[in-house]
Amino acid sequence: MIPPLQHITGMAPYALASLPAASDQDMISLAQNESLRPPSPQAIAAAKNALAYGQLYPDPDWSDLRTELAGRHGLKAENILCGAGSMELIAALAQCYLDDRNIALASEYSYAFFRTASERVGSRLVAAKENGFKVSIDSLLATSTAQTRLVFIANPGNPTGTRIPTSDLIALRNDLADGTLLIIDEAYGEFADGTDQSAFNLVDRGDTVVLRTLSKAYGLASMRVGWGYFPPDVATQLRKILTPNNVSSVSQAAATAAVADHTYMRHTTRLTKEIRLAFSLSLKDLGLEPPASDTNFVLIPFKSEADATAADAALRRHGFVARGMGGYGLPNCLRLTISQETHMKSVIRVLASQSNQGLP
Ligand SMILES: *Cc1c(COP(=O)(O)O)cnc(C)c1O
Repeated sequence: MIPPLQHITGMAPYALASLPAASDQDMISLAQNESLRPPSPQAIAAAKNALAYGQLYPDPDWSDLRTELAGRHGLKAENILCGAGSMELIAALAQCYLDDRNIALASEYSYAFFRTASERVGSRLVAAKENGFKVSIDSLLATSTAQTRLVFIANPGNPTGTRIPTSDLIALRNDLADGTLLIIDEAYGEFADGTDQSAFNLVDRGDTVVLRTLSKAYGLASMRVGWGYFPPDVATQLRKILTPNNVSSVSQAAATAAVADHTYMRHTTRLTKEIRLAFSLSLKDLGLEPPASDTNFVLIPFKSEADATAADAALRRHGFVARGMGGYGLPNCLRLTISQETHMKSVIRVLASQSNQGLP
């Protein structure tokens, strides 16, 4: 065998949800936080139209998409960069700033890809303790050292679903060392938009990045489109790392039309919130205590790992795939994506029958 680099052989593979086999098409996945609705009809039409020009390479500058995003959020188009999912942008940031002489910092129960992205460039990720499934600014600051180069915060968080106010992020940024880049991953930002001041304003300081994606609220996970708002000098370096033509023409067209159809996306986030609130109430009626979510999923802590495993198995028997949280250090929890109302009511019935058998 030809020996790969040591830091790669030492890495654990990135673990996606254990999804059912393709033969099990009747299974309903609540494991990957996908949207409860298909993409906007306008996005579908735009994608079909773009495919007719499939012989051509895509626009390397994502011009239409950046213009649409800049207009929507009141941002400067030239400071927006797009990726093949926001995962590409997270990976590029790690490649740009991390190596074996520095470290990345994240919150205890944060998005697992932050660790993968850090380790694959030979760095390490250190986790700061949370407080009741919430990011703790004090604990992040106490864990930050002179070696800390990147701080990753998903807000709202995944897998917790909880959100900290923008004022906390400002306080964190004020107290972090100047040589530390703060990355605020707002993959679920659309589900909380309008409830607080925008984090995009922090980017003007020059030491903060905000990431978003079309994968969740816009229902375009399969199209792989993410974007970020970057200080100009960060954007300049990052562009060298992004693969040229990284977002297909079909994906760019779908994303641009999806952002333009703001009403459709807002309908999705409102519907998701309604179903999530009712689902969370039903969980509480069963004696469960999910942390308050600002996303399209709910984290459910059970009394024990055995209870979580039993609930997971019961859900599978009834055709639902939950996301086990062992890999996140929460083996007593399951994470469930908010899907259509009838599905969530069935989930509650399954969990209720479990609790009648002595669980939770
Ligand atoms: C889903 C998710 C992403 C990745 O999104 P893509 O744009 O599909 O790559 C990034 N961050 C968090 C916290 C997520 O949950």
